[in-house]
Amino acid sequence: MSIKERTEALLREIPEGVIVEAAAKTRTADEILQVIDAGITVIGQNYIKDLRAVYDKIGKKAKWHFIGSVKNQKNELFRTKYLKIINMIETIDSFEDAERLSKKCEAISKVMPILIEINSAEEPQKSGVMPDDAINLIKHISLLKNIRVEGLMTMGKATEEPEDARIYFKLTKQIFDEVKRLGIDNVEMKYLSMGMTDTYKIAIQEGANIVRIGTAIFGPRKA
Ligand SMILES: *Cc1c(COP(=O)(O)O)cnc(C)c1O
Repeated sequence: MSIKERTEALLREIPEGVIVEAAAKTRTADEILQVIDAGITVIGQNYIKDLRAVYDKIGKKAKWHFIGSVKNQKNELFRTKYLKIINMIETIDSFEDAERLSKKCEAISKVMPILIEINSAEEPQKSGVMPDDAINLIKHISLLKNIRVEGLMTMGKATEEPEDARIYFKLTKQIFDEVKRLGIDNVEMKYLSMGMTDTYKIAIQEGANIVRIGTAIFGPRKA
């Protein structure tokens, strides 16, 4: 099966209202164009160098989400050139980064949609805000003028058994519902981004409306 056929087959399985985001790290522009051809509208990139490598050939044919580590990439990510291109940053997890991002966006008169990344498995070495700190962080970030919280994102723990990821998705959905209930000004709980190739079905059952899929559409990544 070609990339296009694999993507079309996968999209047929996805319930209405759920966005399939193609996680495109290491993929070429031609590979990405095939998934766009099949109906994908959102491309997720972890690294600015990957975005740079493909953007000229794809441009506005898709929306671009940043799904990598803000800590590692911010010197590049927060450059005007990329902030103008990127439609959403899914991985904000600190006030410090949010504040700097808001300032940079103010300079280009843009309000950047963001998701807050939740470290739902509470792994100290991983990115994302700890579940217990999420609500305070969101309240604090909501005061920044040039970014807008539109939901949550989580990775969960990489487990051998996909079913083991369910508890992390459930926890993230609970936080999502709680933030929604609080009705914080300048916060709109619209998107819940969770689930990858092995876990997207479980994530959708637990309320995800963005799933980030790489391997199942592009095939295995080269080492
Ligand atoms: C690579 C990646 C994915 C997709 O992983 P697959 O298992 O290939 O589907 C999803 N989210 C993030 C943040 C990623 O880095």
